[in-house]
Amino acid sequence: MLVIGGGISGAGIALVCALAGKRTALIEQRDFGSATSSRSSKLVHGGIRYLSQLDLPMVMEGVRERERLLSLFPSLVEPLAFLLPLYKGLKRPLGMPSFIPSALRGLSLRIGLRCYEALSMGTQTQKHAALRAEEAFALAPFLKRDEFERALLYYDAQADDVALTLAALRASRRHGAVVANHLRADRFLVDSGKVVGIEAYDDLAKKALEVRAAHVVNATGVFAKNLAALAPRSDVHLLPSKGVHLVLSPSKLRLSSNTSVVLPETSDGRIAFLIPWMGRVLLGTTDSPFEGDLSEPMATQAEVRSLLSEAERFLGIKIERPDILGHFAGLRPLVFEASKKQETASSRVSRKHKIVRSPSGLTHVLGGKLTTFLLMGLDTFRALFPGQKPPDLKTPIEPKPKPEWLKTKGVTLSASAVQALIRLYGADTPRLFDILAESPSLATPLLDGTRPVLAEALYHIRYGMAVDVRGLLETRLRLAWILPDHGVGVLDAIMGLLQKELGMPPQALQAQASAYRTYAARMDAVLEGV
Ligand SMILES: Cc1cc2nc3c(=O)[nH]c(=O)nc-3n(C[C@H](O)[C@H](O)[C@H](O)COP(=O)(O)OP(=O)(O)OC[C@H]3O[C@@H](n4cnc5c(N)ncnc54)[C@H](O)[C@@H]3O)c2cc1C
Repeated sequence: MLVIGGGISGAGIALVCALAGKRTALIEQRDFGSATSSRSSKLVHGGIRYLSQLDLPMVMEGVRERERLLSLFPSLVEPLAFLLPLYKGLKRPLGMPSFIPSALRGLSLRIGLRCYEALSMGTQTQKHAALRAEEAFALAPFLKRDEFERALLYYDAQADDVALTLAALRASRRHGAVVANHLRADRFLVDSGKVVGIEAYDDLAKKALEVRAAHVVNATGVFAKNLAALAPRSDVHLLPSKGVHLVLSPSKLRLSSNTSVVLPETSDGRIAFLIPWMGRVLLGTTDSPFEGDLSEPMATQAEVRSLLSEAERFLGIKIERPDILGHFAGLRPLVFEASKKQETASSRVSRKHKIVRSPSGLTHVLGGKLTTFLLMGLDTFRALFPGQKPPDLKTPIEPKPKPEWLKTKGVTLSASAVQALIRLYGADTPRLFDILAESPSLATPLLDGTRPVLAEALYHIRYGMAVDVRGLLETRLRLAWILPDHGVGVLDAIMGLLQKELGMPPQALQAQASAYRTYAARMDAVLEGV
């Protein structure tokens, strides 16, 4: 089995196939998770808004997968409460049909939430509740009070998307898979019209190599169409859709780490969220068809302004430039269904995944969600090996490390800091603590008093195959998006670690650092004048 693409979809396929005992390899052209799988809203959810679109199979699939991920990755996937405030004058909160009179909206929402819970088939324990105004404002004091009507609280879950991708890859390696990053599939090896492998370019060794496999899977997300075009008789249709998030300082938007806020209506008929993440608040997202360079999506000034004005409809505070720490944009690999009447708004195109086997033998795994990555892996397995039993996914893949074990490491971090690290490193947290115990000097700088970023970088270099400056600062540590200096302040220290651990030549590192500074300046330019 050769899986091309090291985002969450490829990681899920590799994991399922490795667990089933298949000889599995996965290649990724940049760093693992660096494309869409680091740029999601980080929600593991059924998708409350698909409920009003009456896409019940989609909601049910998401809810079941959420429950599965909560039980298989208990260290990384955590329940998250959603505060849903409703205001007078909303046209279609949560995309609710406009014929429902506003007096019946509260009741319809409660019925909807009850269905949402029922779709978990009894596995969801936390039930939604109606809140009194003072309870709602205690959870989110920054919400607008004028025209407030009522609020509800319901439950879904959250996970760091990169942490989940890396955990799935770790587990697939534990079960024998071989994974490689910075290795790009460039050409298919074809024998009698059938794909029998690929020629890949190794960006680290700067040379080409051949990989042969009985089954080749294209799991390259929005890039799937480009890769398919290189194979004989393989047509793939995708509708890339761009989604932007702003990363906001929590100073005016104080949210508890396990509560988020639903912005019940946007001007283009969707919903948006304020989500706690990395001690900050994510505001997102947008949803618009995208044409352009797939490899470097970036927010535009217009998108930043529009997100701010959507949020301010529901806020009693004003978000100003210093409150914006960063931003990121991702591309959804939405499936284009030629047979169906295509929706014009990308927000209404289904998030369902699709597995297409082309006559060349190449298998394309298209669409999907972070939430459904294991199901995508299972469905790919079933398509490739009909009649064979997929692995039983019952035992936790990423259990919580035992607190007693962590204590023996003698690391003096607060309980909440340890919790935040477990959310990122899961069952591998003890390795990070070993690094801290070995090199106490790496405990500083301590971002927000909780994250020892240099020790984390060393962990990713030693155990996570991180080999480049941008991969570390953006994808692994997220400093590109969560710090106003984008992590430029620790650039030299990161380069020092890469040089010491991997023997990377200083000139090559300098070139990477200079490219990183240019990228950081481009991100700043987007916010000029906002
Ligand atoms: C704004 C936004 C918000 C979202 N929010 C959520 C959410 O809250 N919950 C949820 O469940 N889902 C969410 N999603 C959806 C989810 O993020 C995506 O479905 C998922 O990340 C796609 O993963 P992927 O592995 O298919 O693609 P990617 O993560 O893009 O991975 C594909 C990989 O293939 C690699 N690649 C491409 N070409 C080659 C080649 N020739 N050789 C080798 N490698 C190659 C790329 O470098 C890339 O890393 C969101 C998506 C977006 C854009």
